[in-house]
Amino acid sequence: MSIPSIVVHGGSGEIPASIRKTDVKMKYLDAMKSALDEGYGMLKNGASALEGVMMAVQILEDCELFNAGKGSVFTVKGEHEMDAAVMDGKNLEAGAVAGVQGIKNPVRLAGDIMEHSPYVFLAGREAEEYARRREFEFMPASYFHTEFRANQWKKTRGSGEMQLDHSSDDDDQQGTVGSVAVDEKGNLAVATSTGGMTNKAWGRIGDSPLIGAGTYANNKTCAVSCTGHGEYFIRGVIAYDVSCRMEYGEASLEEAAEKAINDRLKNLGGEGGLIAVDARGNIAMPFNSEGMYRGMKNEHRTFTQIL
Ligand code: ASP
Repeated sequence: MSIPSIVVHGGSGEIPASIRKTDVKMKYLDAMKSALDEGYGMLKNGASALEGVMMAVQILEDCELFNAGKGSVFTVKGEHEMDAAVMDGKNLEAGAVAGVQGIKNPVRLAGDIMEHSPYVFLAGREAEEYARRREFEFMPASYFHTEFRANQWKKTRGSGEMQLDHSSDDDDQQGTVGSVAVDEKGNLAVATSTGGMTNKAWGRIGDSPLIGAGTYANNKTCAVSCTGHGEYFIRGVIAYDVSCRMEYGEASLEEAAEKAINDRLKNLGGEGGLIAVDARGNIAMPFNSEGMYRGMKNEHRTFTQIL
């Protein structure tokens, strides 16, 4: 038996002054708290870690403050293309989607692909067709559009550059979302969801839906969800790197997570952070960016913070 524990993140990067203002900050903290409360409540009632993390991420996708689902950033074409993945540490099953448009909850689609298809990863139009066949809820572009993200995009449009959604100093809406959990049976799971990076090329896929890069879970080691500049996380295979350090190098969760971010990712020139949990309920949340949105809940501790 393990003590159920759940962790969430809401992105990493610079924390703009506007967010540090108490009333705005409270909105983020409350949103992360709702996700934790709901996910933890399920774990306490016997739900699996997988069910808990999918619920936590769905709640954050539905909250327009975060760059996932509603509130996703704009691509270079002024559209929204979302990526998401889930992984079950019990059997190493995984599901992922990339570049999907109009789907209200990409994390649920990733979960469905894992459970009801012979595939792990569907992208673009075929992922949307699959969602239609499985009667997923679609929303019009206006649902995903937020004034803030539109302004953010206008500033980068034409620059030929893409930007982490939280790297401009007047942001008041933040990042990619993710959750990791351990349930009472000691099973681990992870879910990650994102709109990607502002002004990203059409078809650009980040680390979040790539198993091993931004998302990974294995009961033998840990569950990991990453956030930051995806290209570096892909090159460093960062989520799997944490697991490997534990499996082959016998590092503790904390050592493994710390090295993956502050050694491996940093040496590549990458910025970001991750959340991780092991079967004993230990958690790690390192980051090398200026800040990170994160929180956790178990029977001993609950907190949400913007550092
Ligand atoms: N990792 C995400 C990506 O590169 C962005 C983020 O974490 O904010 O798509």
